[in-house]
Amino acid sequence: MTDLDDRTSSGDLLPDGRRNLRFVVIGAGVSGILAVIRLRARGFEDVVVYEKADRLGGTWRENRYPGVACDVPSVLYSFSFAPNPDWSHRFSPGAEIQAYLEKVAADHDVERSVVYGEEVVHAEHDGHRWHLRTDSGRTDVADVVIAATGVLHHPFVPGLDGLDDFAGDLVHTARWDEDVPLAGRRVGIVGTGSSAVQTVGAIVDDVAELHLFQRTAQWVLPQVNPAYTDDEKAAFRADPEAQMQLHYEVSELFADGFANAVVDADSPQLVKIAEMCRENLDTVADPDLRARLTPDHRAACKRLIVAEDFYGAIQRPNAHLVTTDIDRIEAGGIRTVNGRFHELDVLVLATGFRVDRFLRPMEVVGPTGVRLSEAWAERPTAYLSLSVPGLPNLFMVNGPNGPVGNFSLIEVAELQVEYSLQLVDQIAAGECRLVEPSVEATESHEEARVAAASKTVWATGCNSWYLDDRGVPMAWPWPFREFQRRMAAPDLDAYVLSG
Ligand code: NAP
Repeated sequence: MTDLDDRTSSGDLLPDGRRNLRFVVIGAGVSGILAVIRLRARGFEDVVVYEKADRLGGTWRENRYPGVACDVPSVLYSFSFAPNPDWSHRFSPGAEIQAYLEKVAADHDVERSVVYGEEVVHAEHDGHRWHLRTDSGRTDVADVVIAATGVLHHPFVPGLDGLDDFAGDLVHTARWDEDVPLAGRRVGIVGTGSSAVQTVGAIVDDVAELHLFQRTAQWVLPQVNPAYTDDEKAAFRADPEAQMQLHYEVSELFADGFANAVVDADSPQLVKIAEMCRENLDTVADPDLRARLTPDHRAACKRLIVAEDFYGAIQRPNAHLVTTDIDRIEAGGIRTVNGRFHELDVLVLATGFRVDRFLRPMEVVGPTGVRLSEAWAERPTAYLSLSVPGLPNLFMVNGPNGPVGNFSLIEVAELQVEYSLQLVDQIAAGECRLVEPSVEATESHEEARVAAASKTVWATGCNSWYLDDRGVPMAWPWPFREFQRRMAAPDLDAYVLSG
């Protein structure tokens, strides 16, 4: 390892006397871009990002299905240090978010740290440093690894009988293929999550026939999505502080009106949300269609759908809601269990993600032999969703059981990165070489989290990607302010500092 150690800065001192450290960041999405910017702001320049794709952007690079947008307001779904006066809408489309991320990365010269086309497949700590290997065999070392690998990353492809027999065009929303024509064709969409609903609204007027295969009806919160006027954009440009003020105000509104509501199944805000969803559903004119679109679970039990035009779209003459279960896929379309055949030219799987993967399938091995694959054999857990006992100096952004769902994951990532960097400060200051959460702190956090999770609306009797194999919501079950409070500064008693 001599050659590798030579090319790194371990042992050097920064101009201010702190230890220089080498960082490997895995993934160049929102969190990876953020990590680079924040590390450099703290004076750390020895940073390399491994990105398996050929372009940054993460989820926004991958999710390019028609209608893709973020249902968190754009002023909030932005970095706190990079307000964007050019958002076109209150809720901006995915391509704009991708362009925003590319601009922020360019403004901060992030790409000089990024190595594209390299997937980290193995990371092993020798008691001194992390040794990493990519799929091409490239190796590297790091004092600290920041895993910015995302939550909604590995597409879930359902095991539908005959899927391979489909002779038309088959696409997953999370791996869209722009070369597949839609205009004038018969399109089937499987799923009724946010991705499906956004796709339906975007394509219904272009396609010949649209068949939406619904296994579970969803509550839909109406969305009002005005375009920003030129005057509003000019005002944002003239006064970035004012736009940031709006960012913080919207954050408060989100926390009070939604984020705090979902963690308390009995909250009055949830009653209000349910009413709004119900009124929205009542706009569906045909009683039979309305009945079939009526969920059998509480609003916000599954992740709420926020949409401007879904009910309008599904009432178009060429739109067909199919609520009979799928029996099998055949070459020419989908056969439902009642024997009916739905002819399709294009089959869209809007079937979501394998949400328990996180860093996996990467193999991660700690200095005492702790293996992530074993530690997470049952299900992924982490102290405060950030780190795992036995895997020192490894910090995850948007890791297991953190605030997901209808939050701004950018806001979450900022809090997590700042928190992690405070632990890194301990290393840079010479207080220790290794930092990891204690087993006790991790277990007691997980115990409290599981107990609190049972009181959330996600646990009120529906099936969703929030639930683990036991039916326990895999999410932060306390108010968002509690998350902000916990992220403000690490409780060093919860950590083992060594070396
Ligand atoms: P999802 O919410 O997990 O929805 C997957 C859909 O596929 C569900 O309707 C599910 O039905 C259906 N499905 C899965 N397997 C099936 C099968 N074998 N047969 C029939 N139907 C099947 O996935 P998603 O829509 O991609 O959204 C995932 C998450 O991404 C969202 O919850 C959200 O957090 C994020 N997202 C956010 C935005 C945004 O605007 N911010 C947009 C898109 C996605 P069941 O409900 O019956 O399980």
